[in-house]
Amino acid sequence: MTYTHSKKDSGSEPCSQGCPRFAFADDDHPGEECGVFGVYNHPEAAKLIYLGLYALQHRGQEGAGIVCGHEGRLTAHRGVGLVSDVFKPHKLERVAGNVGIGHVRYSTFGSSNLRNVQPLVVDYARGSMAVAHNGNLTNAGFLREALEKLGAIFQSTTDSEVIIHLISRSQGTSFTDCVIEALQQVVGAYSLAITNGQEIVAARDPRGFRPHWLGRLEDAYVVSSETCALDIIDAQWIREVEPGEVVTIGPDGLHSVKPFEPAVPKQCLFEFVYVARPDSYIFGQGVDEVRKNMGRELARQAPANADIVIAVPDSSNPAALGYSHESGLPFEVGFIRNHYVGRTFIEPEQRIRDFGVKIKLNPSRSAVAGKRVVLVDDSIVRGTTAPKIVKMLRRAGAVEVHFRVASPRIINSCYYGIDTPNRNKLIASNHTIEEIKAILDVDSLVYLNLDALLRATGGNPDHFCIACFTGDYPTLIPADYETINNSQRHVDHSTTLYER
Ligand code: SF4
Repeated sequence: MTYTHSKKDSGSEPCSQGCPRFAFADDDHPGEECGVFGVYNHPEAAKLIYLGLYALQHRGQEGAGIVCGHEGRLTAHRGVGLVSDVFKPHKLERVAGNVGIGHVRYSTFGSSNLRNVQPLVVDYARGSMAVAHNGNLTNAGFLREALEKLGAIFQSTTDSEVIIHLISRSQGTSFTDCVIEALQQVVGAYSLAITNGQEIVAARDPRGFRPHWLGRLEDAYVVSSETCALDIIDAQWIREVEPGEVVTIGPDGLHSVKPFEPAVPKQCLFEFVYVARPDSYIFGQGVDEVRKNMGRELARQAPANADIVIAVPDSSNPAALGYSHESGLPFEVGFIRNHYVGRTFIEPEQRIRDFGVKIKLNPSRSAVAGKRVVLVDDSIVRGTTAPKIVKMLRRAGAVEVHFRVASPRIINSCYYGIDTPNRNKLIASNHTIEEIKAILDVDSLVYLNLDALLRATGGNPDHFCIACFTGDYPTLIPADYETINNSQRHVDHSTTLYER
């Protein structure tokens, strides 16, 4: 097999989590990824996990699931849709036990792909186990082919199922030993919560691409992708699971090992730019503060002769505030966001221009009319939504629009769990800044430079993955990644949202 570190990729469709690549009414941001949550030793574990998943909903809206264990027997409920769609009180009641894990899966459009909804649950020689995975394995296609040649049968198209097969084949003594042996064979990004109904094993890959937290609620331990989900259940923050760490939470308390070859951390910069909730702490920093720093850096790098600063809500709000603080220009609420847009809506037959954007955002005329506006967005991916937003601003009376992007140009796809489109669909991969400025129809356009973004994080600049901005991937990527991950798999339309 051939590998490369600096792959000028073309992305993959669908991604290895099995999702079609689609972004709902906003394809200028990457798709989110996944969120995991686990509770050990609490009589209401399922309800706490439900609340945790609610707080992690921004990380994935396609499907959700909870698996709890009672005396080693696992009970699961999984479904397609938002957490509130999937879990009704009587359904939650069925998921009994004082130890459990949950998962939210990132957004796709209307896919009823229940077989890919996590946690994945299986029975095997030693009992049952469930796996909740945030991230993406770069060698999953290769491992899957090898396992299939040995007779393995896969139920889903997710890379996470590979981990299950590797655990079940391990001859390790303890459950944790089996998990470690499995993880020693995979490459890429994983923040995991795995349970056999008696313990939870929380693991983070040696580069720590995705965040992963440990918390405490009285006698219970909690595992979560982000701290915002610890807050919702009043859990104390203990600490982040460290890159390369495997933590076992069981009857003997919490035990930690670092069984993998050490690697330089490569935490995902995009978690700070867009993915994580601003009220969370990840990678040792508060996300809100980092985003404000990005705005401050942007104001220093690219001042504008303007009257007001506005944001593309909600993810760009802190960066716009930072720009405002640094530049002295007043921050205004330039767009009102409709928070009640469901996953489906009825579009009028007579076409309304840019309907998809309008249903989510509307400019506030009194704020922008007659003004020279600095418009701050956290990122531009495909560049198909941004021109519509600018057009709406101009129609609302803005006399100048100065576009400021709080991250560098995205020129490569991600292999580590963020859903970015094929490289040829990334606007910055195929156009110069001048061309993008013309496409957006703005008076000026500046992207934050990479050094400034890294400075804004307050962390060690060498400890971040920057591959989507530079093409320098921190792990080996198989040269046949696309081919192997796109091999024919059956399509299952028979599973839809549970009603009873
Ligand atoms: Fe994050 Fe970009 Fe690296 Fe993916 S390639 S992990 S989105 S920084």
